Amino acid sequence: AMAKVDENGAQAQGLGYRHDATTIDTSAQPRYAAGQQCSNCALWQGGDAEWGGCPLFAGQQVKATGWCTAYNKAG
Ligand code: SF4
Repeated sequence: AMAKVDENGAQAQGLGYRHDATTIDTSAQPRYAAGQQCSNCALWQGGDAEWGGCPLFAGQQVKATGWCTAYNKAG
């Protein structure tokens, strides 16, 4: 299985990525809105899975419930 993104790693920190979007600090991340998460982001490649690919984290998996500053609503 592909490695899961380390949310303490440099890339995740740079993108403000967290595995649990509900823990996003909205004062630090004003773009975040409740309900946004990887599984409804245009870049999500995981379908209905708990973990899936995202082109911003090549070769790693982000969590369906995650979020980062590059979030873009799907559809
Ligand atoms: Fe999740 Fe979208 Fe950010 Fe990728 S771009 S980590 S799918 S919120």
